[in-house]
Amino acid sequence: MVTGSNKACLPFDLSLRCRCGCVRGVACDVSSSSGLRFICYCKDCQLFARFLERPDVLDPAGGTNIFQMPHGRVKLTVGTDAVRCLRLSDKGVLRWYTDCCRTPIGNTAASPHFPVIALVHSFMVHGANGRSLDELLGPPLCRIYERSAVGPLPPNAPARPSLGVFAGRASKILGWWVLGLGRPSPLFDNHTNAPRAMPRVLTPSERAALAGQ
Ligand SMILES: [Zn+2]
Ligand SMILES: [Zn+2]
Repeated sequence: MVTGSNKACLPFDLSLRCRCGCVRGVACDVSSSSGLRFICYCKDCQLFARFLERPDVLDPAGGTNIFQMPHGRVKLTVGTDAVRCLRLSDKGVLRWYTDCCRTPIGNTAASPHFPVIALVHSFMVHGANGRSLDELLGPPLCRIYERSAVGPLPPNAPARPSLGVFAGRASKILGWWVLGLGRPSPLFDNHTNAPRAMPRVLTPSERAALAGQ
């Protein structure tokens, strides 16, 4: 079915910016069909916001608003020296943020071979000209890990994931991989595949202290 929101599908370049403006970049060719929007209520995303002392990036139920897109369409243009990397455990995903104002940038797998960056909304410039992320990127496809929500979900929370959403995500990511859109990555060295910032791994006690706050 064609809906009015499809009018917002023309690809455009979305400005990226930390809260203080030291780190900036651009997400190229984004549209509601060029990426995957989710609201993640998982405990690790909540811990990340707590580590950064940025509870403002979570919704009232503890959800993080993310947009998954391929590495190759994300560019960091200014302030890359301030980019930092955190792992909540030695097997966790890499969580990227800015040191200047502790803005979450997004999450990636430990290696750039998985071609996806999950950008956190706090690093995206939206609200300018009154256009919300929903208008710019289409509404979130679904919510995930809602069992870890810390409060009632907002009335406009997206639905639970359907099998179709998972299948669509898998085929989209496979497409990015086949088309080589995982490269170049703004967060990994494109020759050595090493993260551009050495990941800091929380010790189990640091993690427990954070979780107990
Ligand atoms: Zn900043
Ligand atoms: Zn999460």
